[in-house]
Amino acid sequence: MRSVIIIGGGISGLAAAWHLRSRAEVTVVEAGPRPGGILRTGTVAGVPVDDGAEAMLALRPEAVELAGAVGLGEALEAPAQAPTALWTRGALRPMPQGHFMGVPTDPAALEGTGLLSPEGLARLVREEEIPAPPVDGDIAVGRYLEDRLGREAVDRLVEPLLGGVYAGRADRISLRAALPALADVAARGGSLLAALRPAAPSTASGEPSPGASGRPVMQGLRGGLGRLPYAVAEASGARVLTRTRVRELRRIPTGWQVLVSGRTPRVMEADAVVLAVPAYAAAPLLRPYAPAAARELGAIEHASMALVTLAFDRSRMPAVPRGNGFLVPPVEGRAVKAVTFLSNKWGWLAEEAPGTFVLRASVGRVGEEPVLGREDGELAALCLAELTEMTGPLGRPADFHVSRWARGLPQYAVGHLDRVRRIRSAVAGLPGLELCGAAYEGVGVTACVAGGREAALRVLDARATAA
Ligand SMILES: Cc1cc2nc3c(=O)[nH]c(=O)nc-3n(C[C@H](O)[C@H](O)[C@H](O)COP(=O)(O)OP(=O)(O)OC[C@H]3O[C@@H](n4cnc5c(N)ncnc54)[C@H](O)[C@@H]3O)c2cc1C
Repeated sequence: MRSVIIIGGGISGLAAAWHLRSRAEVTVVEAGPRPGGILRTGTVAGVPVDDGAEAMLALRPEAVELAGAVGLGEALEAPAQAPTALWTRGALRPMPQGHFMGVPTDPAALEGTGLLSPEGLARLVREEEIPAPPVDGDIAVGRYLEDRLGREAVDRLVEPLLGGVYAGRADRISLRAALPALADVAARGGSLLAALRPAAPSTASGEPSPGASGRPVMQGLRGGLGRLPYAVAEASGARVLTRTRVRELRRIPTGWQVLVSGRTPRVMEADAVVLAVPAYAAAPLLRPYAPAAARELGAIEHASMALVTLAFDRSRMPAVPRGNGFLVPPVEGRAVKAVTFLSNKWGWLAEEAPGTFVLRASVGRVGEEPVLGREDGELAALCLAELTEMTGPLGRPADFHVSRWARGLPQYAVGHLDRVRRIRSAVAGLPGLELCGAAYEGVGVTACVAGGREAALRVLDARATAA
């Protein structure tokens, strides 16, 4: 049996470990104190809540299948159905069903919602009259959509959704990487609204409504998505070394040496290595062997975020908010960019703690780092003040928790897919080295699981070819 070292014990690396199970001797090396990376469940007021990712896209099978395969099938739970809502133009307003990352499939449904001003809506519905030559190559989401739908639609409909998924800004994010279906329309040219008209309700919005197949769009896990990495690590049979940081990679005739520091600094050896760390951590490890790839990885920008979870005693709340939460467009000038009413969204949480109402506010888009410099208590107070303005008074929280994710989300800038192609071709000449993780073909949990699987298959393919 050949040996594989997986560097990075987030969900990407663990998925790779699982797909290599019983076909290689696998060691996962993780710098942090536990496996899971951005998948982590903690507690607030004694209630389990996800400190990081909380739901996985279920329209693609990879993550849900993995959860089932590692024994968590029974724990899968879809979020409660509720429309996406925005706090915009001074009020909470539900978004009509059917949109691609905020781009409406039926603009008439926006009438009377107050989501856009009369002028903004008039500009949007004129889209079909505006010439739309084919777009050559990649373009920023915001640039394309501003030309099609007007600035207000970008600011008030698209930005909040992009901020929620990527913590990014429409004027920087790649249309081809973030919204490939819209990029295809742009490349063909012609009206975007006409092209979207017959389309099914959004998958990109994260709306928990059933997809075209009747299956839920998203799934979480009873007890928290943070259970997934532990179950995957265990079922993979891999040796998982935590608090162990990889400092250097060295190529040797039989494969790779991995220099680690941590509990026991040492040199490990394997036939193959899977690099499943964030781009900024992969860059220095690759520099001696693939300097061009290292430069490209180092150039990927990241957004930092904080999640502020507040727990309230229901009996002391002036009113309990309804719905699953809402998003806040950056033009509103608030720190809070999204709010999730966890106790409404997840049935298991309401069952587990019926007397407690838990919500979490998300803070930090790319370029908004200064607000994250506040201490935990100050940040929680700021979120509570803004929430009070948005939802009405909530009362005093019984407990709160702040989880910080420095450089948590890579930004897929214009040209990202070409950059990934260049990175992959630069490392193709390094036998026994594979890359996976949120930096490449998708930031979501499901895309990361798929990327881990692909990396494992490439390791096995290369071995079969060499044999
Ligand atoms: C706050 C937040 C909320 C999110 N919510 C959702 C959600 O609800 N749904 C969704 O689909 N996606 C969500 N995402 C995105 C998704 O969770 C992540 O993109 C995904 O989990 C990344 O997984 P990963 O394994 O690629 O990276 P990570 O989880 O970052 O794991 C990489 C691991 O590598 C380790 N590492 C780094 N350097 C070294 C080294 N030198 N040696 C050893 N180990 C090292 C790190 O400690 C880390 O554990 C969210 C992201 C954030 C930041």
